[in-house]
Amino acid sequence: MVPSLEGKRAIVTGASSGIGAATVRALREEGMRVAGGARRTDSIDADVALSLDVTDRESCERFVAEAVEQLGGLDVLVNGAGLAVGREPFWESREEDERVVLETNVHGLIRMTRLCLPHLLEGGHLVNIGSVAGRQAYEKGSLYVTSKFAVRGFTYALREDLLGKPLRITTVDPGLVATDFSRVRFRGDEEQARAVYSGVEAMTPDDIAACIVFALTRPAHVNVDELVVKALAQSSGGRIIRG
Ligand code: NAP
Repeated sequence: MVPSLEGKRAIVTGASSGIGAATVRALREEGMRVAGGARRTDSIDADVALSLDVTDRESCERFVAEAVEQLGGLDVLVNGAGLAVGREPFWESREEDERVVLETNVHGLIRMTRLCLPHLLEGGHLVNIGSVAGRQAYEKGSLYVTSKFAVRGFTYALREDLLGKPLRITTVDPGLVATDFSRVRFRGDEEQARAVYSGVEAMTPDDIAACIVFALTRPAHVNVDELVVKALAQSSGGRIIRG
């Protein structure tokens, strides 16, 4: 029998757009109460919508305290907030961009996990959104690739530390998903962003949200360690057949 998510409580970061927003929708459809966090609070459609900047320690502390209080506890954390900045060879990389990517994708995810962990230790579930970039490097993506390898390393290290405790940990590693991700990566350049998704059927944020629901609804003794999902015409972050 598939366990029900009815009445359970979740925090989803990156809830204002793309995969995070779709995850909020999917979890609410399963009957969960969801607190969504992002910097653009106006774009969050959740039971509890709160401002969150994962790169800011105080913002994270305030967010987790308020979200847990308003939800009356916590069963699931989905670490969805993340980004890439630029698509250049490493010798053109800029320190300020490197910092934003690592602060958001790595430090932010680790910080949110640490703050939520005490609330998840009795049967909770942590879901990190990694990437195929965290499994196989591709050109001109060095900092993003670095950050997602770190997410995978952290996920598995945490699994070791928590082994024996009733807390499940999953990383969902998507390939090409049509979201605002490329618009952010190319600093608002619509043409460059569109080209990423041209001539190929990318996955949708709902496809990824469905994977998260799958992992969450396995029986309590089953831990889905990782789910790797790619567009059919894609074998890695760098190899996509178009047209
Ligand atoms: P998206 O549509 O651009 O969404 C990114 C989300 O992250 C937004 O809600 C954004 O909210 C939030 N975010 C960024 N910086 C933040 C910060 N400092 N504090 C709090 N929230 C922050 O892109 P997406 O594709 O859904 O990305 C979601 C996750 O999936 C990321 O971890 C990304 O690396 C991963 N992923 C995406 C793809 C893909 O092809 N799209 C593939 C593999 C993995 P605000 O701007 O409102 O703060």
